[in-house]
Amino acid sequence: MATPLPMYPPTDETSAPRLELAEDLREFRDAANLEAVVKLAREVVEDPSYPTVRAWALHGGKAVGCFPVYTPQELIHSFGLLPVSLHGGGEHLEISHADAALGSFLCSISKSTLELALTRQLAPFQGFVFPYICDVSRNLEGLFPRLLPGPETHMLHLPQNFHTRAAVPFLTAEYRRLVVKLERLSGRPYDPDALAASMRLFNTHRARIAELNALKRTSPAKVSLIESYLLRRLGGLLPRELHLQLLDRFLPELERRPARPKDAVRVLLVGSFCEQPTLDLVDLLEQVGCYAVDDEFLQIHRWHGPIEPGDDPLASLAAAYVNAPIDIGVRATPTTKGEAILERVRVADAQAVLFLTAKFCEPALEDVVLYRRALDAQKIPYLHLEYEERSTAYEQSRLQLETFVESILFN
Ligand code: SF4
Repeated sequence: MATPLPMYPPTDETSAPRLELAEDLREFRDAANLEAVVKLAREVVEDPSYPTVRAWALHGGKAVGCFPVYTPQELIHSFGLLPVSLHGGGEHLEISHADAALGSFLCSISKSTLELALTRQLAPFQGFVFPYICDVSRNLEGLFPRLLPGPETHMLHLPQNFHTRAAVPFLTAEYRRLVVKLERLSGRPYDPDALAASMRLFNTHRARIAELNALKRTSPAKVSLIESYLLRRLGGLLPRELHLQLLDRFLPELERRPARPKDAVRVLLVGSFCEQPTLDLVDLLEQVGCYAVDDEFLQIHRWHGPIEPGDDPLASLAAAYVNAPIDIGVRATPTTKGEAILERVRVADAQAVLFLTAKFCEPALEDVVLYRRALDAQKIPYLHLEYEERSTAYEQSRLQLETFVESILFN
């Protein structure tokens, strides 16, 4: 007989120490320097109870959790809701309940996201959006309303064929389906002017993230990967306005930093577009002698260039998704995969590619096969590492990375 599924909430595990932030999140505004913000970002990311969302709720704010990889977060923002990027539970979350509802051979993010919900860590959210990126995300969306009656749940269907003229009307209609739920959740009607304003804000925010990424590419010694990663991760957890203020304040400081270049291999990180590696693993990559000059982390902040809202902002938003040059495992694009990876190596001026893929992530693993063929043909070195959220031992990864780096530096 099948194990009965746990019902929400099976347990209230809120006794773990939690970071408490002021309702106006002044801890970020008042931070003395960049180091203080990065330290705070790490605490926020490692706290599975979403401290920034709890702080937002203190003044009655509502939040919508967005599963990777892409949700039009400016649309959620235009209703006065806080769009929050969900990235699983990280290395400190014990999986005690989710295993009863999900199979064994699945990526960690699916289990930890469900575990967070079943242990009430997602209680501060009023809604969830799951883009249909793979069967795992589709099944997760199916489980949420069954196990967690209450919050709005939405499955967002994204087009895969970008050649057809039907792609933009299809996606615009999909966004209208989401709009109905956002109206219900926020108590506000859809307002194209509000969406246009949100799109302009997000345009500016993405431009700042692009500056951060460009700095990492051109002067990798000035900003470490872990700093750049935590700064970007914070962007999906804070109100965008506040995150933009932080970027405006600290980007010039990063640019002024004296660069102390070291002997390191410039690598392009590929494959971590959905489930994220642990912070310790992100840290390790540069400790062993790599400069991660480009990566696929947190694609939501770099999906588009600026989007002109035009007469129909919803259709403009849909067209921007369809025409985006993003080429990752959960999205088919007009380019071939082989050409795409070679072009990214060229643009990043990378010496090597590091495939960093979540265990059991089929979309990422399928692309690795195509990418490797193209890299082999051009004799570009690569290494493939797999990770899980609950990994704590990195000795083998360290050894593989060190051997890889030495083989390139001393050849
Ligand atoms: S990690 Fe991969 S398999 Fe898992 S939900 Fe994300 S895209 Fe799907």
